[in-house]
Amino acid sequence: MLASILQIGEDHAAEHLNRTILVTAAKDTASTRWAAEIIALLERTVRITIDTDVVTRPHLELIVGGVKHRSHCRRLYAEIDAARATIGFEATVRGRGEAPALFAATAACTVAAATLSALIDDPALPTVKFPLTLDFAHLGIPATALEREINFTGSVLIGAGAVAHGFLRALRNVHARGILPIVDPKAVGEGVLNRCLYLTPDDVGLNKAEVLAARAQPDFPQLQITSAVETFTSFTKRNGPTATAIVTVDSRRARRSIQSELPGRVLDASTTDVRGVVVHSNLQPNPHACLSCIYRHVADEHAREQSIADGLGIPLETVKSGFISKDVAVMIARRHSQINPEAITGMAFDSLFRQLCAEQALATPEGRQVLAPFAFVSSLAGNLLVIELLRCAAGLSNTNYWSVDPWGAPKRQTRILRRRVPECEFCSRPEVDEVAKELWGAGDRWW
Ligand SMILES: [Zn+2]
Repeated sequence: MLASILQIGEDHAAEHLNRTILVTAAKDTASTRWAAEIIALLERTVRITIDTDVVTRPHLELIVGGVKHRSHCRRLYAEIDAARATIGFEATVRGRGEAPALFAATAACTVAAATLSALIDDPALPTVKFPLTLDFAHLGIPATALEREINFTGSVLIGAGAVAHGFLRALRNVHARGILPIVDPKAVGEGVLNRCLYLTPDDVGLNKAEVLAARAQPDFPQLQITSAVETFTSFTKRNGPTATAIVTVDSRRARRSIQSELPGRVLDASTTDVRGVVVHSNLQPNPHACLSCIYRHVADEHAREQSIADGLGIPLETVKSGFISKDVAVMIARRHSQINPEAITGMAFDSLFRQLCAEQALATPEGRQVLAPFAFVSSLAGNLLVIELLRCAAGLSNTNYWSVDPWGAPKRQTRILRRRVPECEFCSRPEVDEVAKELWGAGDRWW
């Protein structure tokens, strides 16, 4: 399967869908700000214009807030107030109050999903049921808890990919202080620019952790963002146990290795191509599911690694190492001439697989490829991760797993408490609970 995917002769740079959206936003501050959030999520995937003079025929007009439409094309209306956001094909009336910035940012992801669904008529995409309403009560955090100051000293952000970008962009909307290191051993690949919103094309080839820290820092006057170009395992060896691990890495295997370092708390978010977002959290000593329970080794994972190995023509053991080294990149490029070895050096095998699959799954009507997951999926994961963090900080988190459909509105009913998996490679070991108790004792001593 992968071999056929690799026949795609496209450059790995992010492609724009050849469609145009006219965005018309009301002049009030809330609508203007919200429109800017929505545009940021869409503009690296489709053409956006706010000017009717430039484009004669947009494919869709997105109307944000109570304002009159400006075109005769298909129209989508988005409205937000203190309690909810609504997106539909008919205008709605705004209720009372202004949404907190974090809720508006989360709702921007929902609007982006609805907009892309209305714009792209592709059976490969999940369907959106219109009108779509995101009731903020489902986010499970009262607006007052968003005012709490969070001290990140002792926390580590692991992974500097799309979800980490989404996390930091969401974190702009709360009060963060202290020191937060970003740990990632890899370099920026070409295919991530449409969803790593802090990056520019000049950043390709630079260290992911360093460039994200540098680009995000101006958004955080009270928080010092540092970087470490290494794995979490080597970071832990140098710095000792981590109180809070904020996990945004690509692979199941990497997640299990992070859990085995026994952080005091884990906050984790992942995406499954464009179809799913999952948030998990745990606090040691932890009687419930751990990160290794949630992302336990499955047969499917082995099959996936095997198919990556077969497709790329490299040994299975090399794929298991996680990252594409310079030598392996050259080996892959020798077999697949359309691949530029420099562009994939330092990339995770999982990321390459994800990218190549996404490129095939989402062909535009013109036959061009567009990269997925879209920015809004990883941004939603980042927003929900910040919400989970605030819920933990406020002592509101009595569940440890939240699976959300990015093409619908997050629903509180899908939050559950998952139990330990008896054969878990980490928490089934008898010494784990003892060490956790010794290390992290009574539990919640930070924040
Ligand atoms: Zn476990």
